[in-house]
Amino acid sequence: VTKKLLQQLKTDVQDVLCLHPELTVKESNGIPKWVEGDYYVRDLDGVEQGVFNIRVHIPAEYPYGFPIMVEVSTRIERKIDRHISLKGLTCQEITQKEKMIAAAGITLRRYFAEYVHKYLCWQLIYEEEGNENLEEWAHDQSSTLAFYQSHLNIQNPILIRRCLEHVAANKVSGRNDPCLCNSGKKTKHCHEEAFNELKFIGKDQLLKDIQTIG
Ligand SMILES: [Zn+2]
Repeated sequence: VTKKLLQQLKTDVQDVLCLHPELTVKESNGIPKWVEGDYYVRDLDGVEQGVFNIRVHIPAEYPYGFPIMVEVSTRIERKIDRHISLKGLTCQEITQKEKMIAAAGITLRRYFAEYVHKYLCWQLIYEEEGNENLEEWAHDQSSTLAFYQSHLNIQNPILIRRCLEHVAANKVSGRNDPCLCNSGKKTKHCHEEAFNELKFIGKDQLLKDIQTIG
């Protein structure tokens, strides 16, 4: 960790602790390793809706790694449709998207605001009324095709595979060449940005996903 990054991380952690005073940070050799304690879910009026004991691990690649959250209190039933493992590892995003987000960098503060809070609110609603009216997110292989369909805005699996094969092989076609998706537009006016984002998923995962899509 560089001095500058370490300073940024420490400021980031302090911001989170300010917003959530019940949490504490654990350091090793002066480097913050995780944040743990009771997380109070409050509504917009500040009224407490529930409390979970959590531990959020800070990735060594900070901020270019996706944090990992463990629910320690076991309030959340350990079953797959609660998006939690037997050991309490929470699933908040699919792997491919985590990699793209991590590549762009994610602060701890943003992780708490966008993932921790949303995930625990979801769990509270689940406790009350089940998941019938809850927005779902996928967490296994069946979600792979859906992820790419949504990211590329392409439905046809054959076309998606063709795009992924190009990205995985790093065969970047010219920005002025016709886009691989057959839209007839130049790549720069079509999928250039989407393809660039996919590079962050990494060759190994992309090749795996090409197999999964079949
Ligand atoms: Zn295109």
